[in-house]
Amino acid sequence: MNVLVTGGAGYIGSHTALALLEAGHSVTVLDNLTNSSTVALQRVEALSGRPVNFVNGDILDSTLLDTIFSSQSIDAVLHFAGLKAVGESAAEPLTYFINNVTGSLTLCNAMKKANVFNLVFSSSATVYGEPTSMPISEDFETGAPTNPYGRSKLMVEECLKDIAASDSRWCIALLRYFNPVGAHSSGMIGENPSGLPNNLLPFISKVAAGKLKELCVFGDDYPTVDGTGMRDYIHVVDLADGHLKALNRIVKSPGVSVWNLGRGEGYTVLQMISAFENATGCKIPYRVVARRSGDIAECWADTYKAQVELGWTALRTVEDMMIDTWRWIRKNPDGYKN
Ligand code: NAD
Ligand code: UDP
Repeated sequence: MNVLVTGGAGYIGSHTALALLEAGHSVTVLDNLTNSSTVALQRVEALSGRPVNFVNGDILDSTLLDTIFSSQSIDAVLHFAGLKAVGESAAEPLTYFINNVTGSLTLCNAMKKANVFNLVFSSSATVYGEPTSMPISEDFETGAPTNPYGRSKLMVEECLKDIAASDSRWCIALLRYFNPVGAHSSGMIGENPSGLPNNLLPFISKVAAGKLKELCVFGDDYPTVDGTGMRDYIHVVDLADGHLKALNRIVKSPGVSVWNLGRGEGYTVLQMISAFENATGCKIPYRVVARRSGDIAECWADTYKAQVELGWTALRTVEDMMIDTWRWIRKNPDGYKN
């Protein structure tokens, strides 16, 4: 297939672009590089031995989208482009809603005009809000996300359901990611957060690399095994593979399909620190501080639906996640700026 990957220079998009190329698909990446670098795409090309057609531009630019769709025959769109910093979304909700919601609608409009109806959307487990039981399966009610970022994901999901209901040609996958971490085993592509990381593993990595003094553990009074927050961490290469499986599935099934992409196993913050220390030999100094506002105690996926319908299971362990992350950090201490 000829696949348009929006946000394909970013963390998950670059790993998925590589998986697409390795599976024989052709890839066009549309990215405005607000949170990424073309170096990632050069490395994807080097790893796959195949070219990426890169367009430097914005999903909000409908003229550019029309040009992309009219100048080549696109079969499907994997839509990663978006802003993702939870804290920033509370400070700048308009920016988030315009980029994530209006951007997604602009993309769908251009797809419809071009008769392209296969779409895989990067959603998030945050759309479930704070469920009262675990694990979370796809038939759980979507809840009340605790921040504008999460609400932007839920809004796009709702819009896509209406769009698909209005026209049976749409084939849409809503992929609800749990906590993507890790890096490609080559150490050539990985997560490249600018500034102070928000997420746990990038923060641990910076402490291990000596760039930050200590990790702050946000609360140890949650109702979990050791009191710290529990999440379902999934290796980014497994996540990329899940996109290929979803893409292959939706082209044969009109409507909207929802799949959780997680490992189905929860790890607490303290367990993640131990796993990192054991896998890498680095000591992670940490200090327990107050809970982070908006955090939930625990969140992990029921993976049955993805197993049965997609034939997909996450294969990589938490140890793999730690080893691959650490290799990426050691090889690229300044991210793509080397
Ligand atoms: P990322 O920031 O690394 O990648 C997003 C890419 O989109 C970046 O390259 C950025 O430059 C680009 N982009 C942003 N706005 C754009 C626009 N208007 N036009 C064109 N390009 C634009 O993030 P990621 O971690 O790879 O996440 C990819 C998607 O998955 C996002 O939609 C994110 O919300 C979603 N998601 C991520 C996580 C996570 O923990 N990483 C979890 C759940 C969902
Ligand atoms: N966390 C932490 N210190 C940090 C970053 C995260 O203790 O510096 C905790 C956080 O409270 C949560 C878990 O690690 O329990 C995962 O947080 P992350 O931001 O990576 O993912 P999310 O909360 O969005 O699922």
